Amino acid sequence: MSQLPSEPEFEQALSELTTSLRSFLKAHPDYQKAVDIVQVPERVIQFRVVWEDDKGQAQVNRGFRVQYNSSLGPYKGGLRLHPSVNLSILKFLGFEQTFKNALTGLNMGGGKGGSDFDPKGKSDAEIRRFCVSFMTQLSKHIGQDIDVPAGDIGVGGREIGFLFGAYRKLRNEFTGVLTGKGLHWGGSNIRPEATGYGLIYFVEHMIAKACPEYSLSKSSTLVAISGSGNVSQFTALKVIELGATVVSLSDSKGSLIANTDSGFSKDVVEKIGQLKLKGGSLESFKSFADEGKYTYHPGQRPWKLLSKVHIALPGATQNEVSADEAEALVKSGVRIVAEGSNMGCTKEAIAVFEASRKKGSSGVWYAPGKASNCGGVAVSGLEMAQNSQRLTWSPEEVDAKLKNIMEDCYNVCLRAGEQWSGEETSGDVLPSLLAGANVAGFIKVADAMKAQGDWW
Ligand code: NAP
Repeated sequence: MSQLPSEPEFEQALSELTTSLRSFLKAHPDYQKAVDIVQVPERVIQFRVVWEDDKGQAQVNRGFRVQYNSSLGPYKGGLRLHPSVNLSILKFLGFEQTFKNALTGLNMGGGKGGSDFDPKGKSDAEIRRFCVSFMTQLSKHIGQDIDVPAGDIGVGGREIGFLFGAYRKLRNEFTGVLTGKGLHWGGSNIRPEATGYGLIYFVEHMIAKACPEYSLSKSSTLVAISGSGNVSQFTALKVIELGATVVSLSDSKGSLIANTDSGFSKDVVEKIGQLKLKGGSLESFKSFADEGKYTYHPGQRPWKLLSKVHIALPGATQNEVSADEAEALVKSGVRIVAEGSNMGCTKEAIAVFEASRKKGSSGVWYAPGKASNCGGVAVSGLEMAQNSQRLTWSPEEVDAKLKNIMEDCYNVCLRAGEQWSGEETSGDVLPSLLAGANVAGFIKVADAMKAQGDWW
């Protein structure tokens, strides 16, 4: 019996890492000490956030920042505003972030934070007052060389603006303390697009190796996406730009499935983006269903609603693909599953995909979020570099760097997967990118910690 409280999401992330490390640790047992130490965050900050609602009433929420690991650079990771937020979720996210940031090849440590505040249904003024109160506490613990938060679920450009303005006034300094800033006040080109675009750049390499017949330049390639927030919108827009067909989007209330051969159009995805900015639900796109182009399925995720799909990209939240849903995707012909969301698949769903991979050439190839969605934090790292130089790089320059980072990340994961999948990757069986991402990210962090005397 442990004296520690149960932290299911964090325990899941830890178990995924330790399971993936088995064959590496067998060959290098001395690294077990690093596993014991890296799982404990360097610092956890928890604070009270009291804010005034539009009726003048005091409201209270819990604020958190988990400063997980700074061996590769300042803590870096998003802030999540969602009623589900608790320490287990932020610890899992900060832990994953540590290895993800290592995989970008940039000098960033790992962290995550947020609050159980629900931005839905709140006025702009309430969100602003919450952000000011949240930052009043958080500003004591962050800084451009200490800890540089960004957005996550419930934190977009508006919230980053309010948080940045509060920090600037509280500290009387204009520094790159947050990323995801507006383009004209220190933000980077391509940052809003980066996670979704980066996911697709990663997936293009997977397709080229595993199933070139499902190239994203072909309209016959069917891509299922869940979620309809920042990550999913830009994932969908990049798929549409390349020429493949997006067959689904979803939100916390239900799924919208495209009935026609042409799938979602750019115009519809952009309208969904505007709807989401106002806190709307996909349900209000029922009008499209009336025209016979889309069907809305209340209370359901997309995975079991598709008779045929080639690429599946979870982009909403953690544990949004169950074992049953993974089986349904395999039956529908899916070949690539890559997470835009963090820990999008349950442990059981990953087991289904990994078992399918081992069957060979017609199997599913799965990429964990810490590899496939690292484009967002990578461009945040590029935003930090631009802030330090006091320069703004062009969209083309940032996009080219993002493409290189995703290619390098893919190659690093593939090579480590070939070495440490713990199985014969002979014939047409592809290496495990799950093992590859976990081992490669872990070695980088563990070696930096050892060099700095964090373990011996
Ligand atoms: P977002 O803009 O707030 O969108 C979140 C989307 O997920 C919305 O469609 C939301 O539906 C849906 N959602 C949230 N909670 C859900 C739940 N419990 N069940 C079903 N659907 C749910 O957030 P985001 O930035 O796109 O982030 C999405 C995922 O990507 C998260 O796992 C995040 O950690 C990860 N990620 C984000 C970035 C980034 O740069 N933003 C980078 C790497 C990874 P509603 O609209 O109905 O709320």
